This record gives sequence, C-alpha cells and structure tokens, in this order.
Amino acid sequence: MEQIVRTKALIVRTANSGDNDRVLTAVSPEMGKISVIAKGVKSLKNKNSAAAGMMCYSDMVLKEGRELYSLMSAEVAEGFYHLRDTAESVAYGAYFCSLLESCTEPGIPAGEELRLCLNTLFALTRRPEAGATLKLVYELRLAEVLGLAPYISEECQCGSPSEYLSVAEGETCCAAHKDPTSVRLSRNEMAVMDYILTSELKEALFFNSPPQLIARLGPVIERYLEYHLGRLPKTLEYLKNIIPKGKFRTFEKE
Ligand SMILES: [Zn+2]
Repeated sequence: MEQIVRTKALIVRTANSGDNDRVLTAVSPEMGKISVIAKGVKSLKNKNSAAAGMMCYSDMVLKEGRELYSLMSAEVAEGFYHLRDTAESVAYGAYFCSLLESCTEPGIPAGEELRLCLNTLFALTRRPEAGATLKLVYELRLAEVLGLAPYISEECQCGSPSEYLSVAEGETCCAAHKDPTSVRLSRNEMAVMDYILTSELKEALFFNSPPQLIARLGPVIERYLEYHLGRLPKTLEYLKNIIPKGKFRTFEKE
C-alpha cells in the first residue's frame, strides 16, 4: 500500500525535471532531508506551484515512492517573499538553505537545524541590510546545534589571556598554546562570538554589531566551518560575487 505522509518542510534546492516537473530538496523537522518529485509545478496554473519554490516553507502531503516522494499537494506556510526583493537577500537566503542542506541527512530529524534556518530567514526579511551579521549568527549557532561550536574563554587552559582561536581544537588559547590552525582574535571579536553563542537566538538575530568586527569575523568563521564540515556550499562563492568588495563596512549603518 502506498504510504501518504504529511510534513512541513523548507525547500532548500530545486532542479528542473522535464518540461513541467521539478525535483525539490527539502528539510523536514521529523524526516530530515527529503527529495520530492513535484509534477506539473513549472506551470503557474498548477495548484502546487506557489508552494514548490526555492526558500518556501510548505505544508506538504507526500506519497512515498521507491526513491523519491511525490508531491500530492502543498500549501505555503511561510513564503519569505521579501527575500526576493534584493539580489543580496536572495544570495544570503540561498546560502543559508544550502548550508542547512549540507548539514542534514535523510531519515534523521532536523528540527533544531530547521528552526534556526527559518528564524534566520525571517530575520533577513526584517533586516535585509544585516546579511553579514545574520550569516555569522547562523553559522555559529548551526555549529552549536551540530555540537561543533567553538569554546570562547578569556583565558587559555593555562591561565594566560586568550589571544587566538584554534580552529582545529575549537577553543580559544594563548600565544604559547596556539597551533598552526590558530587565528588571532581581539578581545572584542571574542566577545562578539561569545555573545552570539550564549544569548537568546532572537537577541542574537537582532543584534546590532560593529560592522568592522563582523567583517573581520566572517572569514574566520567560514574557515572554522569549512574545517569542521569538510567543505562549504558553492552558494557561498555566489554570495561573495554578489556582495561588492568592502560593502560589509558600509552595509550596516543602524
Ligand atoms: Zn596557554
């Protein structure tokens, strides 16, 4: 008998299939990453087409197949339509979605990861000018959900003041205990990371950060995630091409 399941899921990637169909990659809280064939949705007349788009959080009824689920019906739970207003927001949103995709697996519940991504996308619709800050918050909090967050302390284990973050060890350390993966960080940069990791998610997402600190921490956290996840999604390169050089510095006048 064909199994019918209902779930809400965020569509993190879409690929065309034939003239009218699309294969959706989505993340569901209970089912983790799923692949769904959505027949006919490339036609705007199709009743499911609005809920079968990229970055759409949809309430889906699915039929289980041998390899893919088939989309029976879908309704938009949250469309994040304002993300389409600027090329920057689209690029940040696409990167957040593909990072979520790269950290989830079929059959493994992903409620926490999904909740973080949805909250970050929501914050991005509210403060599109704060993409660089939201990226940092999302990356650090995702590392935390995955059990990979760096341990930030004013003191190294030896008691000397921390001056570096060891990417490999995932903790701050002094000059005597640094390793080849260590990156020098200022007190303020460590304080920003600590704030992002320890505050309520909502506070972190609406945090007004000094832009120069965010600009400096961006590449450090990318390097950190890349080290621990193996690689970062290609959408990061796209995002970097969209954002003009130096824009991080003038982007967030609030
Ligand atoms: Zn030390």
